[in-house]
Amino acid sequence: MINLENVSKTYSAGTRALQGVSLQIEKGEFVFVVGASGSGKSTLIKLLLKELEPSSGVITVNNQNLSRMKRRQIAKYRRNLGVVFQDFRLLKDRNIFENVAFAQMITGKSKDTIRRQVPAILGLMGLGDKMRFFPNELSGGEQQRVALARALVNKPSILLADEPTGNLDPKNSWEIMELLDQINKTGTTVVVVTHNREIVDEMQKRVVTLKQGLVVSDEQKGGYNYGK
Ligand code: ADP
Ligand code: ADP
Repeated sequence: MINLENVSKTYSAGTRALQGVSLQIEKGEFVFVVGASGSGKSTLIKLLLKELEPSSGVITVNNQNLSRMKRRQIAKYRRNLGVVFQDFRLLKDRNIFENVAFAQMITGKSKDTIRRQVPAILGLMGLGDKMRFFPNELSGGEQQRVALARALVNKPSILLADEPTGNLDPKNSWEIMELLDQINKTGTTVVVVTHNREIVDEMQKRVVTLKQGLVVSDEQKGGYNYGK
């Protein structure tokens, strides 16, 4: 489903952010990506979003070679990816319903579909009674659940999460990770960049560890072992 073949990324300043990374993620997997700051985690996410181009190597997602994609295919490709970030990135001047509805409007969903699907996904995220609230009226954990609802409302085959619990306390972090686990159990492939050692160790998922742009370990039912 996600395949990196000998992928390198060197930034213009000469920083080698990824160095010959080969990685295969199958449909339905749950994968943690861990590593020290600067090890290349965000670069990997940006390559998968096609926000960056690799300096060399080949990335294919759902059998599509990202480098060969034409401009109008890129928008379509990105719609098949759900993404959440550490800082939530909600529209501050829109309520929760509108934040999620927006993701559906840009993909051309009908009003009827939006009226059905937005409350359904917000309900699943435990936010059914907060649809008219604005982001600043919600806790961090709730805001991240809105971001998750927005990422999932179009039923992406892949969910990418870049430090989704970086701004959350332990209780909310666990709630978000449990939601990610549930989402994965419905068949969505989930890739999570995280610094949360306790959660990685507890959840016993596949763990890919990056160090200075190299994959230094890749373990099924792994732990958070960088630095050892
Ligand atoms: P991580 O997400 O693991 O902290 P990054 O992928 O952000 O790592 O960064 C990997 C390396 O690439 C770091 O040395 C970082 O300073 C460098 N880097 C990241 N983005 C850029 C950029 N836009 N321009 C130049 N160097 C960058
Ligand atoms: P993250 O929390 O995702 O690891 P960073 O703090 O590494 O974010 O980077 C924040 C932003 O700055 C990113 O957009 C990244 O591309 C850019 N960036 C990171 N390192 C560098 C660098 N050495 N030179 C230029 N831009 C960088």
